[in-house]
Amino acid sequence: MHHEAAQQIIHWGRYAFERGLITACSGNMSIRLDGDAFAITATGASLGTLTAHDVVECSIDPACPTKGEANGKRPSMETDMHRRLLRKLPEATAVFHASPLYTTLVACTSLEIPLNVIPEEMAYISRVVRVPYRHAGSRELAELVESSLEINELGLLENHGMIAAARTMAEAVRIAETFEFLAQLVCQARAASLELKVLPDEVRTDFLRHLREMRAAAATRTMPADPATRHLLRSPM
Ligand SMILES: [Zn+2]
Repeated sequence: MHHEAAQQIIHWGRYAFERGLITACSGNMSIRLDGDAFAITATGASLGTLTAHDVVECSIDPACPTKGEANGKRPSMETDMHRRLLRKLPEATAVFHASPLYTTLVACTSLEIPLNVIPEEMAYISRVVRVPYRHAGSRELAELVESSLEINELGLLENHGMIAAARTMAEAVRIAETFEFLAQLVCQARAASLELKVLPDEVRTDFLRHLREMRAAAATRTMPADPATRHLLRSPM
């Protein structure tokens, strides 16, 4: 197993667990390796307590055997979903799938989550895509995810959870964490009968332009970044 990829998965698995994004043994993570291969968490592994033995190497080509099976570990039953996204999206190196509470609550209803609400969401999530229910681990679900999802989008898997593909695992987890926060915010606003102010699309476009300018200025050190918004400069959009 590729040592660095395993360490990334162990690190971000623990992070996601500590942030409440993981319940029981739900969720799985994958990272692209060199040579048409990828690393993915093993079936039954808890993302909060992973070791290098819980990370299995697979081929992007589904016809190739899985190396991890020699160690008695089998890749996640949802591996096909990861494989198809990594194959479709060459810029993506990481895929994160989980079932955080509020995200899953939204996925189990027809509640629309408005975008253009908070800066983190505008910076990190380019679109939310609802994926109709198909059984976990089924070829049908993997095909639907592959055909509907692009990089930096949040795939809302109906009656199941979320999935995201990004340039790094940090970004994929950040998409999940940001949407979970937004879903909680929307649910609590509804429970309290509060009306959310949604910003117009022009404001989102202008905010992304503003981020690009700040990023360019920070790169040439002409403008010191405000510590409170510095993290937004690392957004992919
Ligand atoms: Zn699942």
